[in-house]
Amino acid sequence: AKAQGRNTLCFFDPAMQAAASARSALEGDIRLGIERNEFLLHYQPVVNAAGHRMGVEALVRWHHPQRGMVSPGEFIPLAEQTGLILPLGQQVLRMACTQLAQWSQQPDTCDWTVAVNVSAQEFRHPDFVKRVLDALRESGANAHQLKIELTESLLLQDVEDGIAKMRALREQGVGFSLDDFGTGYSSLSYLKRLPLDQLKIDQSFVRDVLTDPNDAAIACTIVTLAQSLGLDVVAEGVETEGQREFLLRNGCHQFQGYLFGRPVPADQL
Ligand code: C2E
Ligand code: CA
Ligand code: CA
Ligand code: CA
Repeated sequence: AKAQGRNTLCFFDPAMQAAASARSALEGDIRLGIERNEFLLHYQPVVNAAGHRMGVEALVRWHHPQRGMVSPGEFIPLAEQTGLILPLGQQVLRMACTQLAQWSQQPDTCDWTVAVNVSAQEFRHPDFVKRVLDALRESGANAHQLKIELTESLLLQDVEDGIAKMRALREQGVGFSLDDFGTGYSSLSYLKRLPLDQLKIDQSFVRDVLTDPNDAAIACTIVTLAQSLGLDVVAEGVETEGQREFLLRNGCHQFQGYLFGRPVPADQL
């Protein structure tokens, strides 16, 4: 970048320019994709100690006409930066609630919960509570079977407002899960105040739980913490029987990961 007088920056770096135009192309594509309903949900099972399916986590996918199937890591960050996460998040909520309502009609799946990931911008929006309740009402889904996954950093931003929103939704039956737990900076006194139902042990601690004593200690500490706060605890990213067995032996009774199933479309579950 070369300075051209005061407060004016002109970019001559071709690599930066290419990156910027790729970003704006992607932004335009996301916008169009939302209009054209190119986003869909895959679902990954959450199982209990007996291996019984208790529910699923909804994970967004983008079926782009040229790019093919795009994973959320490639578009969620930009969607968050551009505000497009708001309309996208609403589509995600609607799709998840519609699927939940369908599952609740079938004997094998009628008690499943569906967990939906919500990003900071969506949660901070003044209409967040209304949006969730609208999606539930329009779909006919049971609020008690909907879980919302939030992250620690998102909750740290405006704690009082966040707590008020969580309370309003919990009164209607909606559950709350703290995602990627252990990777943020929550203090214990803060955690105690949050109206949560569940902690999810981040997969970065599960991966080497059998070989890295620090990861094992963190995973076990999270389980103990959840128990003492009266919360459910789910281990994410469980890929091997050894990991499952270790976690189970240390008090974790719910699991999610490739060992039990990858995220797939609803009809392939
Ligand atoms: P997350 O919420 O932590 O979701 C778990 C991620 O781990 C998913 O990646 C899932 O496919 C992957 N995973 C599950 N089991 C295993 C395993 O055994 N091993 C490994 N290595 N990975 C496993 P995915 O679907 O690519 O999603 C990435 C992230 O994108 C999510 O992380 C979440 O933060 C975000 N995301 C996904 N869907 C949505 C959405 O609808 N809205 C928002 N705001 N964010 C979403
Ligand atoms: Ca999640
Ligand atoms: Ca997670
Ligand atoms: Ca994550």
